[in-house]
Amino acid sequence: MNTIFGPVHSRRFGVSLGIDLSASTKQCNFDCLYCELAPLPAITHQHDITPVETILADLTQALTQHPNIDVITLTANGEPTMYPYLDQLVDAINILKADKKTLILSNSASLSDEKVFNTLLKLDQVKLSLDAATTDIFHKIDRPAEGIDIATIIQAIDRFSHIFTGKLFIEILFVRGVNDTAQEVCALNQALMRFKCDRIDIGTIDRPPAYAVSGLDFQELYTISQSFDPSLPIHIVSRTHATATPSSYSTDEILTTLDKRPLTQEDIEALFDENSKKRLQTLISEDKITHIERSNVLFYLPKQNTQRKRLKSTVTT
Ligand code: SF4
Repeated sequence: MNTIFGPVHSRRFGVSLGIDLSASTKQCNFDCLYCELAPLPAITHQHDITPVETILADLTQALTQHPNIDVITLTANGEPTMYPYLDQLVDAINILKADKKTLILSNSASLSDEKVFNTLLKLDQVKLSLDAATTDIFHKIDRPAEGIDIATIIQAIDRFSHIFTGKLFIEILFVRGVNDTAQEVCALNQALMRFKCDRIDIGTIDRPPAYAVSGLDFQELYTISQSFDPSLPIHIVSRTHATATPSSYSTDEILTTLDKRPLTQEDIEALFDENSKKRLQTLISEDKITHIERSNVLFYLPKQNTQRKRLKSTVTT
């Protein structure tokens, strides 16, 4: 079985070649309600293990066929950090990769394992999921294997975020009636305020889920995004924008809205009607609104905020 897929074009990460570290079957330490794979009880160890040599041979061939990719993404039908030879594989990819970046998409469950923690430090980019911050909701939404604890995960992400020198992304997936309550968003906000990360992607279900649950519409996701502390680099992922209805915003409303929550071009397309977009353009030409770049995503915000709230960002005027 070929362990490589793609190239896949992602607006968030660029053109990516994926490595599936569980190519033949689902192997995961979670059994998430929203998983796009078939439901299966969570397990703690992989039993179907692809040899490192096989993956490296597949990758070498794929890189010859697709030399212009941006990123090599470690993923799995399940959780990629469960692959027992991950450290050996990452070392070999770091020799092979030349100018390509490396990325892993992880559910964060194994980050408290020192070996996994140290392996992930060797990557260029890491995306960690965090769907809940309280024990009850964590068990409800992610249905982890026995012994996996959310407080330990949050502590590990916190520590990792302050040591890792690459780009760190956090992803939260919201499920209607499960982790979208004010209390859970408040608990998530408290956890996120501890982390040092480049971007926080919030999204919802957009593919048939493993269990009978449903996602939020764009307005609901947007309302949730406003409940987070304005200093957090929240990005609503693009596929959810299709359900939005554009509205009229006055000049003052645009300034207040962007003060509370910087918006991406996609948010603006989804939220603003044509006249509101013209008002925004006027504010940009008057130098009252500017934009900052956070890992391939542009955010619009009042110019004064770049000094007041976002000193760490690269400001583009
Ligand atoms: S962590 Fe990913 S693969 Fe595992 S159950 Fe959740 S959504 Fe599915």
